[in-house]
Amino acid sequence: MSRFVQPVPPPVDPYAGDGLLRSWLERHLGPAGHAAAKGRLADLAADVAGPLRAAHADAEAHPPALVRYDPWGARVDRIDTSAGWQEQRAAAARHAVVALPYLPDARGTWGAAARVVQHALLHLYGPESATFSCPVAMADGAAALLSLPEVDNGVRDAWLPRLISTDPAVAITSGQWMTESQGGSDLGRSSTIGRPAVDGSWRLTGEKWFCSAADAAMAVALARPEGSGRGSRVLAPFLVPRYAVDSPLAHGLAPGAPAPGVTVHRLKDKLGTRALPTAEIGLHDAYAVPLGDPAVPGLVRAMTLVVVTRVHNAAAAAGGMRRGLAYARAYADVRHVAGGALSSSPLHRATLGTLAVDAAGAFALAGHAFALLGRVEVGADPEAAAELRIVAPLAKLATGRLAVSSASEYVESFGGAGYVEDTGVPRLLRDAQVLPIWEGTTNVLSLDVLRALTREDAGAPLLARLAAAVDLARPLSPVLADTLAGAAAQLGDTITSVTADPGSPAVLAGARGLALRLAYALTTALLVEHAAWGDEQAALAARLWARRWLRHEEIAEDAHHHLDLLC
Ligand SMILES: Cc1cc2nc3c(=O)[nH]c(=O)nc-3n(C[C@H](O)[C@H](O)[C@H](O)COP(=O)(O)OP(=O)(O)OC[C@H]3O[C@@H](n4cnc5c(N)ncnc54)[C@H](O)[C@@H]3O)c2cc1C
Repeated sequence: MSRFVQPVPPPVDPYAGDGLLRSWLERHLGPAGHAAAKGRLADLAADVAGPLRAAHADAEAHPPALVRYDPWGARVDRIDTSAGWQEQRAAAARHAVVALPYLPDARGTWGAAARVVQHALLHLYGPESATFSCPVAMADGAAALLSLPEVDNGVRDAWLPRLISTDPAVAITSGQWMTESQGGSDLGRSSTIGRPAVDGSWRLTGEKWFCSAADAAMAVALARPEGSGRGSRVLAPFLVPRYAVDSPLAHGLAPGAPAPGVTVHRLKDKLGTRALPTAEIGLHDAYAVPLGDPAVPGLVRAMTLVVVTRVHNAAAAAGGMRRGLAYARAYADVRHVAGGALSSSPLHRATLGTLAVDAAGAFALAGHAFALLGRVEVGADPEAAAELRIVAPLAKLATGRLAVSSASEYVESFGGAGYVEDTGVPRLLRDAQVLPIWEGTTNVLSLDVLRALTREDAGAPLLARLAAAVDLARPLSPVLADTLAGAAAQLGDTITSVTADPGSPAVLAGARGLALRLAYALTTALLVEHAAWGDEQAALAARLWARRWLRHEEIAEDAHHHLDLLC
C-alpha cells in the first residue's frame, strides 16, 4: 500500500491575493498613487513568497548567540545572528520598510499617504520577517524622534540618514531601552541615571531588562537626568551608540568596536520572536547623547517613538492575521476530509470566514492609525493628532488580542501539522503572543485610553467619526446603521459617566471593557467608510463585524456562505 503524502499548499501572493489591501490603497492613494506604489509592493510580495520565507526559516532555526569575549580574552559582548536574519535586515532596507515615509520622492508622490504605502509594505513584509519587524518598528520610532525640531541638528545629521537608508550596507536599526526589571509598565520606577559630561555628551548608569534588537547599532534609552526628581514625566530619551559607526559622535572608536560602558548580561530565552535578540543590558557610565534638552521633561518626546512602535505593532498583528488566513485557506483547498476538500466543509468555511472578518477589522484599524500618523507628520494636522492620541493605543490593544486568538485558530486549522515546527505554522502563535505585551499590555493601554478620554477629551473625535459613519451606513444597511448608532450612544453615555469619576474602582475595573468597545465601534466605522467608498468586501465585513463584536451574534452561516468574498 502506498504511503499518503499530503500535497503542500501552494505559495500565496500576499499582494495580488489581498483584495482589501489593494482597494484600501486605491481609495487612500487614488488610482495614480496606487499605480505608483504597485512596483514596490509587487517586488516585496515576490521576495516574501520566495527568498524571505527561506530566510525566515533560517533565522528561526539559528537563533542569535551572545559572544562575550574575543579569542584573546577581550570583552566584546557581540551578538552573532544568522544569515537569514542578515537577509531580513538587507530586505528591510532595500524595500524601504522604515525609510519610505522619510524619502523626499515618496513624500512628493504620496504626501501624508506615504505612511499608507509604508503600512502596505509592513503588511506584506512583517509576517515573513522572522520578527525583524521589531527592529524595523524601533528604527522608525527612533527616526521619528530624531526628526523632532528639539533634537540637536548634529545628532540628527549623524544618525537619521542611516536609520532611513535604503542601502543595506549603510542602513542601521535601533533598540529601545525602556523596561527595567522593577517596572516596564510603571516607568516611574525607572532608576537609570543620566549625568552630563564635560564635552556636552552624557553618561548613563543603570540596568535595562528587555532590550530587543540588541544587535542594533544604536538604542534610544530612557534615563532620569540627575537631580530631575521622581516620576515618569522627567525621564529623558538619550541616544546610546551600541557599536561605533563612522560618525563624529562615536567618540573615536574604530568602526564595529563595542561602545564602552554597555554590558550585555544575557539574551532572553523567549516563548517566541526567537530570531530576535532580546538582551538584559547594564549601563555603566555609558556614552549617550540627549535627544532634546534633558532639562525639559522628556517623556512627551519619547512618546513620539512609542506612538510609532504601537502602530507598527498593530500592523504586525493585522499582517500576521491576514497571512495566517491565507495559509489556512490554501491548506483547506489541498486537505481532504470526509470525502471532500476541507474548504468545502460548511463548518470549516464558517471558521475561516469568521477569521477573515477579524482580519479585515484589524487591517482597517492598523491602516487608519498609519493614515493618521502621516497626516500628523506631514500636515501637522491637529484633528488627526487628537484622533491619533486615542487610536494608537486602541489599535494596538485590540489588534494584539485578535492576533493571539486568530493565531490559535490558524494553528488548529492545520490539525496536527500546525503543531509541527518544520511546517512553519507554530511560529504564528508564538510570535503573536508578544503583540499584546510589549509597548503596553492590554490593561496598561486601556488605562492610557481612560486617561485620554477623561483628561484630554479624546472621545470627541472618535464619537464624531462614529456619528458620520452611521450616516454612511444607512444606505448600505439600516440594521448596521442602527447597530452602530446604538453603540455610539452607549459609548457617549459611558464616557460622560467615567469622566465624572475617573478614579473610582468601578471605572478602573471597567477600563479594558470600555477600550475594547471603543475599538470595536471604531473598526465598524472604518469598515463602513471603506464600504461607502465602494468596496463590497468591506460592506460585508462591516455587517458581520458589527454583528460579531457589537451585537455578540453568531455569524457562522454568513461567514460560510460568503467566505470567497471575505478572503
Ligand atoms: C519579546 C519581548 C520584547 C521586548 N522588547 C523590549 C524592548 O526592546 N525594550 C523595552 O523597553 N521593553 C521591551 N519589552 C518589555 C515590555 O515592554 C514589557 O514587558 C511590558 O511593557 C510589560 O512590563 P513588565 O514586564 O514590567 O510587566 P508589568 O508592568 O509588571 O505587568 C505585569 C502585569 O501587570 C499588569 N499591569 C501593570 N500595570 C498595571 C496597572 N497600572 N493596572 C492594571 N494592571 C497593570 C499588566 O497588564 C501585566 O498583565 C519586551 C518584552 C517582550 C516580551
